[in-house]
Amino acid sequence: MSAISALPYVSAIAPYQAGKPIDELAREFGLEPSSIIKLASNENPRGMPESAQRAMAAAVQELGRYPDSNGFALKKALSSKLDVPVEWITLGNGSNDILELAAGALLAPGRSCVFSQHSFAVYALATQARGARALVASAKELAHDLDAMLAAIEADTAVVYIANPNNPTGTHQAARDVEDFLARVPAHVVTVIDEAYNEYLPLERRSNSVLLAREYSNVLLSRTFSKAYGLAGLRVGYGLAQPQLTELLNRVRQPFNVNAVAQAAAVAALEDDAFLDESYRLNRAGMAQLGEEFHALGLAFVPGFGNFLLVKVGAAARVYEALLKQGVIVRPVANYGLPEWLRVTVGLETENARFLTALKVALHAAPETARA
Ligand SMILES: *Cc1c(COP(=O)(O)O)cnc(C)c1O
Repeated sequence: MSAISALPYVSAIAPYQAGKPIDELAREFGLEPSSIIKLASNENPRGMPESAQRAMAAAVQELGRYPDSNGFALKKALSSKLDVPVEWITLGNGSNDILELAAGALLAPGRSCVFSQHSFAVYALATQARGARALVASAKELAHDLDAMLAAIEADTAVVYIANPNNPTGTHQAARDVEDFLARVPAHVVTVIDEAYNEYLPLERRSNSVLLAREYSNVLLSRTFSKAYGLAGLRVGYGLAQPQLTELLNRVRQPFNVNAVAQAAAVAALEDDAFLDESYRLNRAGMAQLGEEFHALGLAFVPGFGNFLLVKVGAAARVYEALLKQGVIVRPVANYGLPEWLRVTVGLETENARFLTALKVALHAAPETARA
């Protein structure tokens, strides 16, 4: 027995399960790291934009100094790009940080947080770490059920997390439904709209969600440079909310939460429309490539709105292992209550093709697999 007086709600946390790193798989199976493809963490398969790499090289020279605690240049760039005042912006060490800041500012024992079944794991973690109660609303056909989420709100609820699109399901709530939801949410409840995949939304699904933060002082938008902008390893994201809420987040923020290299890279990436456009195009093409083959194989999948697809393979743990043996890493999602499904990130065309070839072998090697 340890003498440490751990908080019971901290001891009860089930740690986040990240995608398996390439080097770890290489060691386990004696594979060449360069032969492994990782489609497990929704990273941009094109890697970092060159514009960001140039900005980073320059910023590295200044690493003897602390970063700008206020992120002046990046906030200014975001402010003009998104047409919001600088005072509305919170920078985060990844958007994960923004999600945590909301929890840190608003959740505590005696308060509760609403999120959806099958939604992003960080919401449960952030809630639990503050000793707040999680009120999990049932999903509807794997998507958020906004009516159920509204009904789940209690008197002590301080935060609602909506992942739009959601990870790991890829589902997306239409703009009008989100607006209806916000119009009905009590004023004391902060709704965090997690838009990590915003830049991947197909054109017909896009809306200017910044307007929601303009209309509602209890809305926080969360966005990231980790996905479409290709900067996952740098850890930089941002939140958008009116000043009263932004100032609260700022009180619990570490003073130097976003490092200088990340800030410089994000400024460059934000201006790099060509990189973003090509990433979007490649992702749509890759989605179609995977979807067509899943269809041909008779596998059910969720038509996703991010840069990944959720596919039903039956005995997912076995299929996952059989893919690993072939040097292909995808994401099992049993911990999301989806034991028959795998989540696969859209890769480069060649990576998608290799995954599909390996999948056919894996399905064959896992005979218990139930085709949908
Ligand atoms: C990837 C992801 C994030 C967080 O990514 P960061 O790298 O921390 O910005 C947040 N929400 C969802 C739904 C995600 O999938």
